[in-house]
Amino acid sequence: MFWVPRRSPGDWGQTQSVLVKSTIISTPGSKVLASALHSPITAVFAATLDRPKRSLPHDLVAAINDLKRDLNAVILAHYYQEPGIQDIADYIGDSLGLSQQAAQTNADVIVFAGVHFMAETAKILNPHKQVLLPDLEAGCSLADSCPADAFAAFKAQYPDHLVISYINCTAEIKALSDIICTSSNAVKVVRQIPADRPIIFAPDRNLGRYVIQETGREMVLWNGSCMVHETFSERKLIDLKIRHPEAEIIAHPECEPPLLRHAEFVGSTTALLNYIQRSDHASFIVATEPGILHQMQKAEPTKTFIPAPPQANCACNECPHMRLNTLEKLYQCMKDRSPEIVMDEAVRSAALKPMQRMLEMS
Ligand code: SF4
Repeated sequence: MFWVPRRSPGDWGQTQSVLVKSTIISTPGSKVLASALHSPITAVFAATLDRPKRSLPHDLVAAINDLKRDLNAVILAHYYQEPGIQDIADYIGDSLGLSQQAAQTNADVIVFAGVHFMAETAKILNPHKQVLLPDLEAGCSLADSCPADAFAAFKAQYPDHLVISYINCTAEIKALSDIICTSSNAVKVVRQIPADRPIIFAPDRNLGRYVIQETGREMVLWNGSCMVHETFSERKLIDLKIRHPEAEIIAHPECEPPLLRHAEFVGSTTALLNYIQRSDHASFIVATEPGILHQMQKAEPTKTFIPAPPQANCACNECPHMRLNTLEKLYQCMKDRSPEIVMDEAVRSAALKPMQRMLEMS
């Protein structure tokens, strides 16, 4: 079995700064990151490295559980979080599952172990609850590849089009959209749109292409992408398959078309997790962020999961934004009740409508 090496929290700053250097050079999304992000990547890591050390309880897990009870908090974690966070979460899921949980929770405080747009989504659905994010700098290259002013100008060129946006976008983009979708329900949502209604799909061009292929529906695509899912190397994937011919290739639809062509199953992280449990195969090559391998191994301990290889000889298939969250920061944000997601009410209420349409159509 191959596995992602565990790192101590202190290792992350060094490792991630190496990852970021390589991605800035190699991907278009990173160029946007370097120039136009709400959180420029260099600032992300500078902020991480500069953060003062604070004393932590000896038993961090017990302390987090105590805070959870005291605050009446729920911890929602994305599959791409580090294993220690996944193990303490009340709910682990992909974007759709997490937004459904956020919509249903009775907790007073939502601690969102994921990236900024996900915590924003929880706030859109729960304006009267406190939403905490362990590291406010945990952004997303895909969300940042679609700035609101540029997208508004793009949308103005297609006044008759319905706008369907993948949930991996900022609250401002959601507010400019008619319907939100996730990788779990994008095909289902698009199939429900009347055939004579033209569609803009944003921000992920790869997911958009995949939906076009699955539905046969023409759509105008915004040219955004995820820097993590575009790191996978087709040539290395083929080499890996030659060395493991028994392994099934499974992939997330944010991967580029040349990689998806080799996949025997394509689906959201939840769909991938479900697939490996019902498949007769004993080994899989998994083309998505390798954080999901923790849940796959727990669900099927006797099966083998091989992370699809990135182009460079590095761990750049790990999302550096997701990995900014640590168990220590999770504890600290609950103790301080900060960083908190705060949102302009006009943007929030405009972003809520397309979210509700998605939840109705899912
Ligand atoms: S894996 Fe890609 S889409 Fe997901 S949070 Fe990271 S950068 Fe964004």
